[in-house]
Amino acid sequence: MPSLSRRCSNEDCRLPFRVHRYDATLSLSTPAGIIRCPHCGHAIPADANSIFLTHALSSEENRVFIHQESQELARSRR
Ligand SMILES: [Zn+2]
Repeated sequence: MPSLSRRCSNEDCRLPFRVHRYDATLSLSTPAGIIRCPHCGHAIPADANSIFLTHALSSEENRVFIHQESQELARSRR
């Protein structure tokens, strides 16, 4: 299953978390089209045909995410 790390879009939170995307037909208990931040509960609108399960990054995932983010920043400065 595709998954990616992103930051919460809530300016008061901005914490990174991991998003796993699934076909909306797999679950009736999770609302489709919403990415919910596991830190603050902020809901981010997303593809209505998918459900998104989120969890806080482990320390290893966090390390990788910070590294990727700094590389993207370096690329965008070029
Ligand atoms: Zn948040």
